[in-house]
Amino acid sequence: MIIKSDQDQIQSYLSDAANYRGYCDAVYFPESESEIVEIISEANRLGTPVTIAGNGTGLTGARVPEGGIVLSTEKMNRIIEINLKEKYAIVQPAVLVKEFKQVVENNNLFYPPDPTEQNCFIGANIATNASGAKTFKYGPTRSFVLALNVVLPNGETVKLERGRQKTDNYRLNLITENGNKIVCQIPDYEMPQTKHAAGYFCKKNMDAVDLFIGSEGTLGVISGIKLKLLDKPQHILSSVVFFDVEQNALNFLYNARNLSLAERKKITGKSIDALALEFFDKNALSFLIEDFPRIPTKAEAAVWFEQEYVESNFDFLMNEWTDLIDEFKGDENNSWFASNEKERENFKDFRHAVSWKVSEYIAQKNLLKVGTDTAVPHRYFDEFYHYSKNLVRESTIEFVSYGHFGNSHLHLNMLPKNEVEYKKAKRLYEKILTKAVELKGTISAEHGIGKLKRNYLLKMYGKENIIKMAKLKKCLDPNLILGLGNIIEPSIMKNI
Ligand SMILES: Cc1cc2nc3c(=O)[nH]c(=O)nc-3n(C[C@H](O)[C@H](O)[C@H](O)COP(=O)(O)OP(=O)(O)OC[C@H]3O[C@@H](n4cnc5c(N)ncnc54)[C@H](O)[C@@H]3O)c2cc1C
Repeated sequence: MIIKSDQDQIQSYLSDAANYRGYCDAVYFPESESEIVEIISEANRLGTPVTIAGNGTGLTGARVPEGGIVLSTEKMNRIIEINLKEKYAIVQPAVLVKEFKQVVENNNLFYPPDPTEQNCFIGANIATNASGAKTFKYGPTRSFVLALNVVLPNGETVKLERGRQKTDNYRLNLITENGNKIVCQIPDYEMPQTKHAAGYFCKKNMDAVDLFIGSEGTLGVISGIKLKLLDKPQHILSSVVFFDVEQNALNFLYNARNLSLAERKKITGKSIDALALEFFDKNALSFLIEDFPRIPTKAEAAVWFEQEYVESNFDFLMNEWTDLIDEFKGDENNSWFASNEKERENFKDFRHAVSWKVSEYIAQKNLLKVGTDTAVPHRYFDEFYHYSKNLVRESTIEFVSYGHFGNSHLHLNMLPKNEVEYKKAKRLYEKILTKAVELKGTISAEHGIGKLKRNYLLKMYGKENIIKMAKLKKCLDPNLILGLGNIIEPSIMKNI
């Protein structure tokens, strides 16, 4: 196994895409589950903190170590099986999402989770319960995890299969592969009824595998993965529609969302049923215009939508969408309709570019990212969006807002120019998160908590519930070695 401790060689393991920086003594590169067991058992014996690294695209500092060692899974990057008949895949944790999706597609199958940044590892996507545009129809990564192999912080291994190990009420009973029994109490808080990735996933009588999905490298190292696959859609309709009035774009999107949700209950095959519904405000469009000069200059907002279809239904669906575009005064003449796969990919690049440019901007300014990842129940979204946007607009700090609005999920990214504006932006950010919680939403719908949002999670769930999370963590990780500083405030963790 390779171990690197030369600081020049390990710099890239000390930060992530949020520009959060840390330090560590060495980076370990296991090539098999047994090597992971070796590293973790030794660290557990010595009490050495271990931070698990994926590919470093996280936006919360979760993979950034604050001492101890880093365990990089990057050598475990093989697709072991694509089962065409039973439609599943078995992969190692460091398979790149974009490569996996391509291989699946080449086999005429479909893996819907599509985080905007696909240069990330499947194992990390599971650890963060990553989402993407297609989450609107197919749910987050969690919906596609059939089974996991996990190396627990004590060095023992468990195999968790969906449907096989359920908690008893709120009691988790794990039998390790060595035959040892671990019993832990899981928290009994209520999670927001929205897209959600903040803190441990806990429910009465839940699947044990779900506890590890979204646990941000704090409860175990994911060493093997079985994923559900679907049939590849025959065709996907894809369009970016521009609007001269922002509220028209929002209303268009809300209507498309409601029609889609209604269709999913009835399944007539005769209605709008969006796969993705993404929004861009004027500032986001201005941010992109240099790279995408076809953006109409008068556009105040845009919506990117996708829908699966079969050939015989194309004309009908196209009419449904164009009627909706007309109803909400979309700029049909200047809108973009993909007529082939390449153009469809170009729309994805358009969506990716806005997130990427934000990360680039904050890295240039050497600041941390101040961007919301909030979702609220659909009925409150319009209120939440305008509240957030007006607050930032009044502050005069520059910002872009965009996101997975089909899921009522807002990325409002502030673009402070300096340290003074950064501090001001942080105060506004806190107000927006407070509002999201007031409206029964979540402070993180997809990026997770990591080290940057622990304070806000504390506000969202209250200290009593964070203590319950800490007790669960301590039960699975008695020597407190794994993913320290993620999710739970260290001051609370210390006193458990
Ligand atoms: C431009 C841009 C756009 C983005 N868009 C999206 C988006 O649309 N949706 C979304 O969900 N996210 C998005 N992200 C965030 C990021 O891509 C995801 O959080 C992704 O899951 C991180 O993967 P990674 O391989 O880079 O992991 P890292 O950042 O290296 O690690 C993330 C977390 O996973 C843990 N981890 C990694 N591997 C394992 C393992 N094998 N076992 C246990 N824990 C592990 C780490 O300890 C850490 O807590 C975006 C990021 C950028 C920069």
